[in-house]
Amino acid sequence: MRRHSEGLAIGVDIGGTCVKLGLVRGRRVLRQFSFETKKVPGKEKLIGAVSAGVRELLRGVPGPLRGVGVGIPGLVLYPEGVVRSCVNLPGWRNVPLRGILSKELRLPIRVDNDVNVMALAEWRLGAGRGAENLVCLTLGTGVGGAIIAEGRLVRGWLGSAGEIGHMPIAERGPRCSCGGTACLERTVGNREILRWVKGRLRAGVKSRMIGLIGGDLRQLTPEVIDRACEQSDPLARAAWSRVGSSVGLALVSVVNLLAPERIVVGGGIAKAGRWLFEPMRKTVKDRVMKGLKGVKVVPALLGTSAGLVGAALLLQEED
Ligand SMILES: [Zn+2]
Repeated sequence: MRRHSEGLAIGVDIGGTCVKLGLVRGRRVLRQFSFETKKVPGKEKLIGAVSAGVRELLRGVPGPLRGVGVGIPGLVLYPEGVVRSCVNLPGWRNVPLRGILSKELRLPIRVDNDVNVMALAEWRLGAGRGAENLVCLTLGTGVGGAIIAEGRLVRGWLGSAGEIGHMPIAERGPRCSCGGTACLERTVGNREILRWVKGRLRAGVKSRMIGLIGGDLRQLTPEVIDRACEQSDPLARAAWSRVGSSVGLALVSVVNLLAPERIVVGGGIAKAGRWLFEPMRKTVKDRVMKGLKGVKVVPALLGTSAGLVGAALLLQEED
């Protein structure tokens, strides 16, 4: 019999910016393509484009196919595959995506939240391998989280578990789109990081970043902060240190609550590497309960392919 990891499946990674589709075997993406989400406005068009893309990939598939797995940045009821809501995709309310795609494609379909899907990939094939208790965190425009406890993905009531980005990290602070106040995401989301650095630069703090962006603050990106860090720029290092400490503080609660043995951190912001990981690890180590100081905070391994690989892996999960 074939080993599970050798099966072929199609992974679909629906994002606010682009939609990726790939033919996947294990952690390898054999063939893939993508299109911009804004080119297919409205949910009917987007679903139609996904179906057409899957049919395209099905041509000349070398062997039996397990089915199609979809990751989407929203609250998803699993296993029903109903997308309850989706922040980046207007009009997506209670969309029975699994049912629609099953009918159109006549293949086994699974639909889950994008961070759950990434966590599944890192757990089975990446930085989380071998851990029975694991938490995954993605740092980008938003802050996402997913929980694997005692060997299974925890989706929670209404599919809403793992929203680490919406844990409050202070009593008072800015309002958040989720309805909460002082959410982690409102301090360490991409936009907030840039806003903080720009505020310092406008206040006259000297930094190599000014030179790197030719004095034009609109050119500031997380990559510019990374480059300035490499040049020992104090403000750039302070920016990542602030983010690392805030994320670390949220992780202290996560560790004390769930006792994961490993925390996998991915997403665009995680590219800051040690400038971010050192303060994050230090905060966790200093403040977590004594018995849990052995928890490891590690970078994700699979990078941008985690979405496709994890979506394909959904076909190997129990329904
Ligand atoms: Zn929030």
